[in-house]
Amino acid sequence: MQILFMILWILYLFMIGATFASFFNVVGIRTADHISINRRSHCPKCDNTLRWIDIMPIFGWLINRGKCHFCKEPIHIKYLLIEIFGGLSFVLSFLVCGYIRSDWTFDFSYQKIIRLVMYLLTVSLMMMVVVSEYEHHVTLKIITFVFAPILLILSVFTGKDMFLSSMLGMGVMLLLNIVLMLFKRELLKYLLYSASLGIVLGFFGTILAILLGFLLYLIVRLCKKNIRYVYFISIGSVISLFTNPYLYELIKKIFKG
Ligand SMILES: [Zn+2]
Repeated sequence: MQILFMILWILYLFMIGATFASFFNVVGIRTADHISINRRSHCPKCDNTLRWIDIMPIFGWLINRGKCHFCKEPIHIKYLLIEIFGGLSFVLSFLVCGYIRSDWTFDFSYQKIIRLVMYLLTVSLMMMVVVSEYEHHVTLKIITFVFAPILLILSVFTGKDMFLSSMLGMGVMLLLNIVLMLFKRELLKYLLYSASLGIVLGFFGTILAILLGFLLYLIVRLCKKNIRYVYFISIGSVISLFTNPYLYELIKKIFKG
């Protein structure tokens, strides 16, 4: 019974994540375009206002088989992908923050709730920043201005060790950003974004994120292409975000044993 409840809860969380992702996608696109977020969603081709079923996350795309209900213009698969990413990232955040005990019951301690809020804020921030960068090559500085201080304040309540780790992570991310700025001055606009990622990842997570990002950079370079800083740091960070607590435990065990 407890397992069934947990599965329903995870599905529910997945749909919440997908709904938020759908909203962040709109924020990412419209803020950069200076269009009001309040306007109801419409088809960019025929301008028809979408029905509620069309804007339902994931299902809307699947029911319409990736086409506009009115004019049959194909709807890009990226909309479906970001909603799936949103759903998955919410579920993974919940699992990584250690909410589920081994006997399938919940563990809602207050530090875990703060960790989860920080995780959810960070994946939300990443979605908005990456979408606006991808769609318009515009950085949503205003959003990082809001998120970075909130994450910093929340990190104070995560316990002494975690807070220290957050400060070190932030320091390493800022250092990386500043060193890269020596080569490319425009990277200044990512300073607060990098700091936010470092706060949530902590020291170990930040190092892992940078290594993963650098690996990605090398692979892309081998294919004779270029990858922008914002993508490699975001991809490295998102993988690190969902793996570093497990890896950290594993390394601790290896060194103890
Ligand atoms: Zn249409």
